[in-house]
Amino acid sequence: MSHLVEVKELSVGFNQSGQTRQVVHQISFGIQKGEVLALVGESGSGKSVTAMSILRLLNEPPVEYSSGDIYLSGESVLKASDSQLRRWRGDKVGVIFQEPMMSLNPLHTIEKQLGETLFIHQGLTAKQSRPKIIEWLNKVGLRDAKNRLKDFPHQFSGGEKQRIMIAMALINEPELLIADEPTTALDVTVQAQILNLIKQLQSELNMAVLFISHDLGVVKQLADRVAVMEQGRLVEINDCQSLFLNPEHAYTQKLINAEP
Ligand code: ADP
Ligand code: MG
Repeated sequence: MSHLVEVKELSVGFNQSGQTRQVVHQISFGIQKGEVLALVGESGSGKSVTAMSILRLLNEPPVEYSSGDIYLSGESVLKASDSQLRRWRGDKVGVIFQEPMMSLNPLHTIEKQLGETLFIHQGLTAKQSRPKIIEWLNKVGLRDAKNRLKDFPHQFSGGEKQRIMIAMALINEPELLIADEPTTALDVTVQAQILNLIKQLQSELNMAVLFISHDLGVVKQLADRVAVMEQGRLVEINDCQSLFLNPEHAYTQKLINAEP
């Protein structure tokens, strides 16, 4: 079966003062259309670096892809032009981070930001964009959306900002959502709301999700398959139920047993 995303023997390092520190070692995995794959592992194990590599979002300090490649619907990401990557980000892949301000511009109203992505990917004018923006802000559950189009990011709460981020990531209906610890910075009750929202939109759009989290309880609820990373290596990948019932790798066993 052909994969939407295929990561093949990918190694990633960072060059700092002439020395390369390898942080991801020869990892391979695929994500199929409509599938939710969770990436778990302790802090520093290389989850974010792996996820960000899928759109080549890492730049500083000089990132080095020393082996392998990533394929989006069969096309090489490492060989893609910058303009191709910009097209993919939005059309094909939406990204949400732990910290919404990594993706929201503090100087622009939310209407302007959402309008910009609709203009870039769908060629919509400001006038054409407005109903779509309102529709999406309602869809992600932003209260009183119609009256908040001219507000700036700082005028929203953390949970609201994350909802706006989700609208930004999904308004062009990409095939893949990369969600890197999307709720870590939020209150517990808001966390649950945002997770439910992601789950609901995933099934509504039948979109694939690469879901990064250190919360195995959440992973259990959300994922079809789970990949486990330890110190830059992918040590185990299996369907969700089998992995939790019958973890094969010692590190996976340790992670599961450490759960409260
Ligand atoms: P995780 O997301 O699993 O917590 P990361 O993928 O962020 O881990 O990081 C993996 C390793 O790569 C860590 O040792 C981290 O310090 C290092 N790293 C991540 N980003 C950079 C960067 N921009 N420059 C240098 N080292 C980095
Ligand atoms: Mg991370």
